[in-house]
Amino acid sequence: MADLILENLTIKYGAVTAVDNLNIHVASGEFLTLLGPSGCGKSTSLFAVAGLNHATSGTIRIGDRVLFDGDAAHTVPPEKRNIGLVFQSYALWPHKTVAENLAFPLILRKIGRAERDERIKDALGLVEMLPYADRYPFELSGGQQQRVALARALVYRPPLLLLDEPLSNLDAKLRERARVWLRELQERLSVTTIYVTHDQAEALAVSDRIAVMSMGRMRQLGTPREIYDHPADSFVADFIGSSNFLHGTLIEVGTDHARVRLADGREVTTQSGPAGADGAVVVAVRPEKIELTDQEGPNTLRVSIEQRTYLGSVWQYAVRSGPLAFRIQTPSELLQKEVLVRIPQEHSAVFPEQASAS
Ligand code: ADP
Repeated sequence: MADLILENLTIKYGAVTAVDNLNIHVASGEFLTLLGPSGCGKSTSLFAVAGLNHATSGTIRIGDRVLFDGDAAHTVPPEKRNIGLVFQSYALWPHKTVAENLAFPLILRKIGRAERDERIKDALGLVEMLPYADRYPFELSGGQQQRVALARALVYRPPLLLLDEPLSNLDAKLRERARVWLRELQERLSVTTIYVTHDQAEALAVSDRIAVMSMGRMRQLGTPREIYDHPADSFVADFIGSSNFLHGTLIEVGTDHARVRLADGREVTTQSGPAGADGAVVVAVRPEKIELTDQEGPNTLRVSIEQRTYLGSVWQYAVRSGPLAFRIQTPSELLQKEVLVRIPQEHSAVFPEQASAS
């Protein structure tokens, strides 16, 4: 298997910088997700690795093998990169059977008949589609077509698998099952994988690490837990899960904490603060991390409940303390007008006001 290394990768289309100085080292066997809103440069990055578009500068390597070194003349063409690729649209050939769809990349690689049949059998077995070898794509469900597309990407045993929103055409239930299944298969094959999605829940569920992108730049690279629990900036805090941003003024920043006077006059201590920042800031805290308490103390706020929403597994409450409006989530149904809440220091962070997502 193989590491994939992107160094200072920049991709420009005229005046638009679609990918801006991307640096990622994907370890052998790792499942790394590029996550971000539409237009942030995920597919452009993935296509550059596949060789389907031209990077402007930087390098792309698989292990020691250089695929792109900043000079278009040295670019390894896509068919020589030995990379499996699955698109959102599956892109199966409609007039070929499942087995013929899988045979095609092997014929291109001049693999003989007997070995071809063997590999097709193996790949269809992996995705549990062997009984459908003689069907045409239109005779299959969306989920089955997606499995065939995956088998076709795996049939020549590439060391690197690139998946561009491969589940987004499936309905919600099937999609959840498919992502578990996909992750299990990827682990079994230990194929180095880059997965592109704009769906943060999907990214959290399947990835070893996530690279969060916005406007061509990587904002944070980390495990799902690191990204969720310690977002690097307010964009990440808001894009992954959801966060409240409580406006206030920075009083003090220490190495492991920051103190902020909130707009309602209360003081809170949070786990971290922006080095060198002063003045207007926001305290980011997730609705489900805010605790109910019956004891006044550090980091507590008395809030009035303005709206109640039942979300199934939890209740969400829109609450207010003076000028601060935010949300809390808890499994309990709260009938009172006012409650006392605590903002846990370990689950809150301070970001500069101007970069705030809210
Ligand atoms: P994502 O996959 O995150 O939705 P893309 O990588 O498709 O985003 O696009 C990133 C940016 O690059 C967008 O601003 C998009 O409009 C631009 N872009 C992508 N492909 C081209 C192209 N072929 N020509 C011009 N601009 C492009």
